[in-house]
Amino acid sequence: QATLKQSDPELADIIIKEKERQREGLEMIASENFTSLAVLESLGSCLTNKYSEGYPGKRYYGGNQFIDQIECLAQTRGLHLFNLDASEWGVNVQPYSGSPANLAAYTGVLRPHDRIMGLDLPDGGHLTHGFFTPNKKISATSIFFESMPYKVNPETGIIDYEKLAEAARNFRPQIIIAGISCYSRLLDYARFRKICDEVGAYLMADMAHVAGLVAAEQIPSPFEYADIVTTTTHKTLRGPRAGVIFFRKGVRSTKPNGEKVMYDLEERINQAVFPALQGGPHNNAIAGIATAFKQAKSPEFKGYQTQVIKNAKALCKGLIDLGYTVATGGTDVHLVLVDVRKTGLTGAKAELVLEEVGIACNKNTVPGDKSALNPSGIRLGTPALTTRGLLEKDMEQVVAFIDAALKIGADAVKAAGGPKLVDYTKTLNENPAIKQQLSEL
Ligand code: PLP
Repeated sequence: QATLKQSDPELADIIIKEKERQREGLEMIASENFTSLAVLESLGSCLTNKYSEGYPGKRYYGGNQFIDQIECLAQTRGLHLFNLDASEWGVNVQPYSGSPANLAAYTGVLRPHDRIMGLDLPDGGHLTHGFFTPNKKISATSIFFESMPYKVNPETGIIDYEKLAEAARNFRPQIIIAGISCYSRLLDYARFRKICDEVGAYLMADMAHVAGLVAAEQIPSPFEYADIVTTTTHKTLRGPRAGVIFFRKGVRSTKPNGEKVMYDLEERINQAVFPALQGGPHNNAIAGIATAFKQAKSPEFKGYQTQVIKNAKALCKGLIDLGYTVATGGTDVHLVLVDVRKTGLTGAKAELVLEEVGIACNKNTVPGDKSALNPSGIRLGTPALTTRGLLEKDMEQVVAFIDAALKIGADAVKAAGGPKLVDYTKTLNENPAIKQQLSEL
């Protein structure tokens, strides 16, 4: 059998270049991470060859005895990771990624044109939480369902729960989504639950960004309050690129006459994933999920997540000390939203300048921005740098690079500080723990 390099040297070369890019730069995109060698092995394994439409024990194809074992392992480990009782919660590990997981959850519990409420995209929500603009319904969620986003308070940057409750009373959504892509504070799940109960809505937590922090018990878990919890597995959770849906089983509520109303989410959500939205599951990814769940239950992973938050706080403090405005004034999680206007740059220009010096991040709206098309901030995350072994003291250097780059512009940084960035990465590469991680990339 020919290797990739032998069979397709052109492509192999591009992949090597991407590997170098990942190795040489500072990866600060809050949704990215470096998964383990073990997960990469599953992703590149023979499991990619197998068709297995259906669920364990109920497949539409033969030869699935080992695939069934793998999927069951991923399910059991998922419940174990988040301390869930199998009589209370079920899990579907087949969604191809976070967006299909969310669409499947909506498809399972809603009818077309039912109403949903999620955090608005410019305020830190995700496209799939119902984003639309005055001219266009952007996300399938807003095409197939009626969406009314809720917002953060433009002064504080914190979700305006009062306004959310008031809007929910008027709009009467069937589902409210508690989830973020760019929000640096903890979500008040109890408050969300109260609002949902008042209007009779399901509470869906989309913990895609923070799943690793939840797994390591570094921030409150949504499972106590939510009916459905969706997540990606490739962000703070550091697994393969995939999605997962947890759903409640058992008693949903008790009527005044004592009659119990049961959840019926299991069948509806499983049906929505397959056959409504997807075909054959990606078994190589499901195996990667199983391994990532196992790794996330380890003491090392807890230490890693503790450090992710410490690094984000150090990054935040460093930037604030230099006079930058940080949305909400700080962070409780793995990301920091920085207003870059004081440098005279827009978010888009700041992203470009940082890319020039090997720092990857993304432009983002900050609370109070007038236009979502021209955001004033950048989103910075620490999960990937923490995987590479960076600590709080290293964040001081990272802040200095960012500040230098933003202040004096890409060319000046290249001349003055650019080589330093490369040297610094080299020093990191000489650390045995980091060397190991890099060799696994
Ligand atoms: N949900 C949230 C909160 C996200 O941040 C994202 C991706 O960034 C998704 C869902 C979608 O995940 P994917 O990009 O895997 O479809």
